[in-house]
Amino acid sequence: MNRNEDNYQSATFDFEALDACPFCDGAAMVPNGKIEWFGVDFWYVFCPACGLKFMNPRPTRESYKDFYKNLFWQQKIRNAGFHKEGQMWQSGKYKWDDEKKWDPKEGLENRLEKHREQRAKTIIPVVASAISLGADSRVLEVGCGFGVTLSEFKKKYQCKVFAVEPSDEAQKTIKDFNIELLGSYAEDLENIGKRGEKFDAIVFSHSLENTIDPVSIVRFAKECLLKSGIIYIQTPNLLVFDQMNPYHPYIFSHASLQFLAQRLGLTYKRVSEPKDKMLTVILNAKC
Ligand SMILES: [Zn+2]
Repeated sequence: MNRNEDNYQSATFDFEALDACPFCDGAAMVPNGKIEWFGVDFWYVFCPACGLKFMNPRPTRESYKDFYKNLFWQQKIRNAGFHKEGQMWQSGKYKWDDEKKWDPKEGLENRLEKHREQRAKTIIPVVASAISLGADSRVLEVGCGFGVTLSEFKKKYQCKVFAVEPSDEAQKTIKDFNIELLGSYAEDLENIGKRGEKFDAIVFSHSLENTIDPVSIVRFAKECLLKSGIIYIQTPNLLVFDQMNPYHPYIFSHASLQFLAQRLGLTYKRVSEPKDKMLTVILNAKC
């Protein structure tokens, strides 16, 4: 059995379809692209009212839960995830994407190095310029993968760091980094907030687009913010990086994230440039 057949057998999904846009409840949905992965179709629509692009029909939350717990990072670190050329304007290749570096044994170290270079070095300066960071600061990353960024926050600013991450494989590394794991899924933010746990910064780096209900997730995150706390979101930018893949029920744009912030009573600031392939925004609870 080759690697692809193995993945196909492991990744099966149940699907559900939406009648309206989950951001603005608009009923008009324009077909807007499709991909296929091991014989399974994933179709997208675009909402002309708020600018949201989303997968419809899409896998159910239960299907995704199993996928993220048991397969997502296990596939990513072996470079066995979904790939499709032509979704990114002016696309390039990184040194970490060299096929030879994706040996199952060395894949993890390669992935950690890529995260250190691409995520930690991108996220930390943006958060540090929005709030003051120090030993008393509490930083939570939702979907932190192996915890590389949180570990760098701790090294650089001695922050208290917390994680939400579904992958069994990634959770082992999080433990090795001595990062406190508060939950497995973004939906756990609801209970984290109810327990009274609050944070100065909540980071979603390439994770909000993977959730089934980002409106609720950001609402829960808002409830978890300390006074002057921020929500950091980084996600593919629809304008130049239309990243359709089986793990992305959503592809956000400046317009759709701004709409979401407004709906939830959060201030919105875009920190990336319009042509940047990653859309980076900071949300604040309004005073
Ligand atoms: Zn909409």
